[in-house]
Amino acid sequence: MSETRGKHGPDKSNIEELKLRKDGLDIWQDIEGWAKTGYDSIPKEMLDLFKWYGVYQQKPNEGHFMLRIRIPGGQITAAQARAVAAISREYARDTLDITVRQNFQLHWLTIETLPEIKRRLADVGMTSIMACGDTPRNIIGCPLAGRDKHEILNAQPVLDQVNAAVAGNRDYSNLPRKFKMSISGCEILCPQPEINDIGLYGAVQTVGGTKRIGFNLMAGGGLSTRPYFGKVMNAFVPEGQVLDVCLAILKIFREMGNRESRKKARMKFLVDELGAEQFRNLIIEKLGYDLEEAGEARWNPNAFRDHVGLGEQKQAGYYYMGLISTAGRIVPDDLRIAAEIAEKYGSGQLANTNLQNLLILDIPENKVEEARQLAETAPTLRLEAHPVRQGVISCTGLPFCNLAVTETKGRSQSVVEYLENEVTLDTPIKIAFSGCPNSCSQYQTADIGLRGGKTRVDGEEREAYDLFIGSDMGEAQEFNTQALRAIPSAKVGPVIARILKKFNTEREPGETFQRYARRIIKNGGSFE
Ligand code: SF4
Repeated sequence: MSETRGKHGPDKSNIEELKLRKDGLDIWQDIEGWAKTGYDSIPKEMLDLFKWYGVYQQKPNEGHFMLRIRIPGGQITAAQARAVAAISREYARDTLDITVRQNFQLHWLTIETLPEIKRRLADVGMTSIMACGDTPRNIIGCPLAGRDKHEILNAQPVLDQVNAAVAGNRDYSNLPRKFKMSISGCEILCPQPEINDIGLYGAVQTVGGTKRIGFNLMAGGGLSTRPYFGKVMNAFVPEGQVLDVCLAILKIFREMGNRESRKKARMKFLVDELGAEQFRNLIIEKLGYDLEEAGEARWNPNAFRDHVGLGEQKQAGYYYMGLISTAGRIVPDDLRIAAEIAEKYGSGQLANTNLQNLLILDIPENKVEEARQLAETAPTLRLEAHPVRQGVISCTGLPFCNLAVTETKGRSQSVVEYLENEVTLDTPIKIAFSGCPNSCSQYQTADIGLRGGKTRVDGEEREAYDLFIGSDMGEAQEFNTQALRAIPSAKVGPVIARILKKFNTEREPGETFQRYARRIIKNGGSFE
């Protein structure tokens, strides 16, 4: 859900002025007061600052709110999962979504309930601070950090260190725009460092025959209506320098980012304008010490970028269960069941993934079967599912998002159901539904991306989707291009079925969908 431009909010040209008048972090004491005096007592121009505590007005802006809970690296304890499930049930009409930044998102909250919800989250060590607004948002990481058999390093400790340094810190509470970080040591790059403002990903540096592990650095990636891949900074960042480097880049952005135009304020524009070399020099200047040259980043460009299904952990005899949601929409009862599985059969640890799925961690082999049986009682979280269900993601869309043109969660569910009956696949496919061009579901990097819009059918205006295809998240780094225009929503399922059947027939041995689609496009083929 992108920034709101609703009738009650300040014009975007005024938001810089509003942030100077009041730091977003100071809005909480007012929220406590308005919780007593009611929605009508809120000065409407202040609603934009609610985002500093993860709170947005939801459509139709009549007194209900969305809350995004910050979950660094997606890591959740069973107690936290139970608390979120209870809040969903009691205050959020059972709404509960896992987002692509590994947050939980709830809807239908009222101003009166926000203080109590904040207290209940704090009781289990959770917060919504800086989950939205012009701040460092939730830092994403590999949900299997520390357990992945193939990881280069466990990045969760440094991710937590950076999170602790920035979340709630007034040095970073007035950035020109939102700021996104991805820190991982995962060899499939599941947290997509390429499309974050800072992308730190596992690398090995060899000097004089001695190997060290750490991170390579990209900066200035981001999607929305003008997508950019992060620029490679030719820098190897040892674990001990990660915090310094992140803070140095945040300071550069805070000082040099565009505050005149919201449309040009994201860091990707600054990095693009300066170029990689100059931006790297600025980082060195801020750090006060030199950066080492990049190490070797070992990663698999053809991998499906998520950890779902049952998998072995690096700890011998232990497994993770990657439970598959449908576009992130689950129900609180199922999250409660997942918490129960984690406590009864695992270590009590769970993790949200970037593709809106949920892992239960550390299950000993002799408990897997019992864990599986209990998981079968949670219908919105499946251990096994058709490949399209494994990879489908969606943004908030209608009815809640103020900028949405189309409904996304229900549509993705019905499209998945259609495809399950129509298409057999032996490889997961990432299908992303965005309800408008803002690309909160990252339609430019999915295997098949759908962007919501309108079309006319029999003289009547109907919801429709443009279909994008052909991206390369590997070496070539290219975004999807538009293959089909204005598909009426009801026809999206059949159109994707036709494309996937063509893929099944025409693919070369071992070819991924992205590679196949690019081959067809390069050879002048079409998906009409
Ligand atoms: Fe983001 Fe979707 Fe809302 Fe558009 S409709 S702003 S992509 S959540």
